[in-house]
Amino acid sequence: MSGTVLVLNSGSSSLKYQLVDPEDGSRLAVGLVDRIGEASSTIEHDADGTTTERHATVRSHQEALRTVIGLFDEVGPRLADAHVLAVGHRVVMGGQEFAGPALIDDDVLATIERLAPLAPLHNPANLAGIEVARELLPDVPHVAVFDTAFFHDLPAAAATYALDREVAQQHGIRRYGFHGTSHQYVSRTAAAFLGRDLADLRQIVLHLGNGASASAIAGGRPVDTSMGLTPLEGLVMGTRTGDIDPAVVLHLARSAGMGIDELDALLNRRSGMRGLTGHNDMREVHRLAAEGDEAARLGLDVYVHRLKKYVGAYTAVLGGLDVLAFTAGVGENDAEVRARVAAGLDVLGIRVDPERNVERGDDVRRISPEGAAVDVLVVPTDEEITIAHEAISLL
Ligand code: AMP
Repeated sequence: MSGTVLVLNSGSSSLKYQLVDPEDGSRLAVGLVDRIGEASSTIEHDADGTTTERHATVRSHQEALRTVIGLFDEVGPRLADAHVLAVGHRVVMGGQEFAGPALIDDDVLATIERLAPLAPLHNPANLAGIEVARELLPDVPHVAVFDTAFFHDLPAAAATYALDREVAQQHGIRRYGFHGTSHQYVSRTAAAFLGRDLADLRQIVLHLGNGASASAIAGGRPVDTSMGLTPLEGLVMGTRTGDIDPAVVLHLARSAGMGIDELDALLNRRSGMRGLTGHNDMREVHRLAAEGDEAARLGLDVYVHRLKKYVGAYTAVLGGLDVLAFTAGVGENDAEVRARVAAGLDVLGIRVDPERNVERGDDVRRISPEGAAVDVLVVPTDEEITIAHEAISLL
């Protein structure tokens, strides 16, 4: 099937897009409309080696997509000539309803809307993007690809919180997991790189970006993951706490009089590396730590400590480990974090070769030494190509 897929990722104030060729994985255009709804929005469109940048007032997702379609017409590639087979939409929360991609119709839209209380920051924005795209590109199928779908069949022991059963059932409270397209892509790519059968591998994938999550994958199926009801649980992230005693929330509500919105902002936007060090960008944290900044050093210690705990726990859950894969912004670029996570884990068969670890590259690479029991890999993630493949899988 030759043609392209337009992949859309609508955030609350942004619209990211890529036009990809699902057959060879090439990108014909990559772009971003940022600060939708603010006084001045930035629009960046990369195509054919040229970046086009615009500043304009973009009041809504509808205006954003109109602008994008206009840019495709103006600087190319023209969508009318690109044989667009489908539009693939990233949707964060698919709840218990979606175990895979879904061809979007009114019922699917209604379900995504019904799931919005479980992902109030994400699903409404995803929905807005879908509605606008269906209106402006009515002649192609639209497919929703869910961040949670890969984890839909997580074993009950991993998905269930030890919470009153009735309350949990009534409110849909369980561990859903997120970043599913990335964990799926990375685990499959790792197996292909090693020339091994996915079915034979016990893998831990560490997706370390601004958001961060770990997964334990046995034979290609996830058996545990660190994000839970929402993307707040688990690892230390750019601005999110990850695991924290829930009583902290009760304590702050009672003793500091904090309300729900304030607590939400504290845990999701003012914590993690930003809360600990003042910066959510790991490069800045390293720079400060190298200058002797105590808060930055402690921040890195906390970040790495949490990762080690998850690697140990997931090795136990898997009953051993064959592959440890690092991905996303920090995982792909931060040799120091990778080295520190692996340090002292020889007991689990995990070793990192210092020279291989600092080599840079855009391709999958092995950073463990020859003969190590665990293959430690760096696997650049590609959520867009996964969304494109999932989208055309339904056509
Ligand atoms: P992502 O969410 O996958 O786009 O990752 C974004 C994050 O990756 C940034 O906030 C940085 O913390 C981190 N990052 C990007 N480049 C580097 C680098 N060269 N070294 C360390 N961290 C990096």
